[in-house]
Amino acid sequence: MPQTHLIAANWKMNGVKASLPIARTIAEQSRGLQARVALFPPATLLPLMADVLQGTDIVLGGQDCHHADSGAYTGDISAPMLKDAGASMVILGHSERRHGHLEPCALVARKSLAALRAGLEPIICIGETLDQRQAGLTIPVLSRQLADSVTSDLKGQAFHVSYEPVWAIGTGLVASDAQILEAFALIREHLDKHFGTNAPQVLYGGSVKASNAAHLLALEGVGGALVGGASLTVEDFMPIIRAAD
Ligand code: PGA
Repeated sequence: MPQTHLIAANWKMNGVKASLPIARTIAEQSRGLQARVALFPPATLLPLMADVLQGTDIVLGGQDCHHADSGAYTGDISAPMLKDAGASMVILGHSERRHGHLEPCALVARKSLAALRAGLEPIICIGETLDQRQAGLTIPVLSRQLADSVTSDLKGQAFHVSYEPVWAIGTGLVASDAQILEAFALIREHLDKHFGTNAPQVLYGGSVKASNAAHLLALEGVGGALVGGASLTVEDFMPIIRAAD
C-alpha cells in the first residue's frame, strides 16, 4: 500500500492571531482526505493553534528548536517547550537556518536528538545552493549533509527528511524530475543503509504549488511536500492537500 503523503505547511515568520481561522478552515476542509497534514506556524501561535485544532487530525510543529532542553539561551526555544505548546513535529536544518543562522550539520544532528528526547518527530532538511549545483557539487554536498545531520543515532526513531534545493525555495523555480529523482535516490540509499526497513518518509520542498503538486507527489519515492509560500492561504494550500489524494 502506498504511504500516506505528509503535506507540511511551513509558515516561516508569517502569521499572527488573526491568521488562526486559516488553520481552522484547513482542518475543516481536510477532513476525510488522505494526506497527513502538518502546520508549522511561528512559535507564538502554537498554543493558540493547538486549541483551534483540538479534535482534528492536523498535526502541529515548530520551525526549529535548541539542542539543549533548557538553560541560559536568550531568545531560543527548546524542544520540550514546543511539545508543551502543542507541537508533535519540528523542522530542523531548514536552509534559512543553515544559511541565515550559519547552522552546521553537527548542530542539526544535536537538535534532532533534542527533538526526539522531547517526543517530537523531526523533519530534517537538506539541499544544495545554486552555486554548489553549478559547480557540480550537488551529490557531494547532499552526501555530507546526510552523513552529518541524518546520523545513525536516529535509528529506530520516527523522523522525516526533506530535500529542498536552496535555489528552488521561494523562487518559483522547481527542481526538474531528473534532479529530484537523482537526489531522492541518494537519500534513499543513505536511509536504507542506516535505517533499513523503517526508513523514513522523504519530502520535496521548493516552490510547491497547486499547479505542480500532483506531479511532484506522483514522482517515485516522494513521500510528501514541505510547502512555504503556498501554505499561507486556504486557497493556495488546499489544492496541494487534495493533490495528495
Ligand atoms: P517555498 O518554501 O514553498 O516558499 O519555496 C519551501 C520551504 O522553505 O520549505
